[in-house]
Amino acid sequence: MKILLIEDEEKIARFIELELRHEGYDVEKVYNGRTGLELALSGGPDLVLLDIMLPELSGLEVLRRLRRESDVPVIMLTARDAVMDKVSGLDAGADDYITKPFAIEELLARIRVILRKKDRGTKETRRLCVKGVTMDIDRHEVTFDGESIELNHREYELVRTLMENKNIVMNREQLLRAVCGYDYMGESNVIDVYVRYIRSKIDERFGIRFITTVRGVGYAIKED
Ligand code: CA
Repeated sequence: MKILLIEDEEKIARFIELELRHEGYDVEKVYNGRTGLELALSGGPDLVLLDIMLPELSGLEVLRRLRRESDVPVIMLTARDAVMDKVSGLDAGADDYITKPFAIEELLARIRVILRKKDRGTKETRRLCVKGVTMDIDRHEVTFDGESIELNHREYELVRTLMENKNIVMNREQLLRAVCGYDYMGESNVIDVYVRYIRSKIDERFGIRFITTVRGVGYAIKED
């Protein structure tokens, strides 16, 4: 198990590193947010320990950027009483946080909990099912009543995003980011075009109302 530690206070970082190594983890440690983000994205860590107050790129910004591409578990290291940091961290997709100063045993316990959860998650088959449409994420297959539905990459990502967020109305910008990535500069009405294609492949073919248009807002897949 590889843990990436992003912490600019060298003494604390050194201490945590030693304790983690003692527990048998591989540890990589970096002292600033920018390098931390790069390593989190390229180094394939099993878990990231992320300090909030960091030079170059704050911990929250590292987390936000990381979450665009990765769901690696993240534990935030926050300063005492920084309630806003905790809330923002969890909002931005942190799995847990621990307040400094902390007992190392507590940190180790939280790491174990999260890694166990992650381990279970990867062993479950990842499957979404709404309105009779089933998406097998590992096999990249979409079916209705056992019949295969052919979606191109962007249609698939759009359906996946809506299924993962079922009953939640998503606006075109959110969908655009999920489907085309953050750097996409085009018009958000391409989403309308994809929705039309998906409807011809699912709604019309099987006679169901799969994707709901929410006028003036966006789209949702709503469970009956
Ligand atoms: Ca710091």
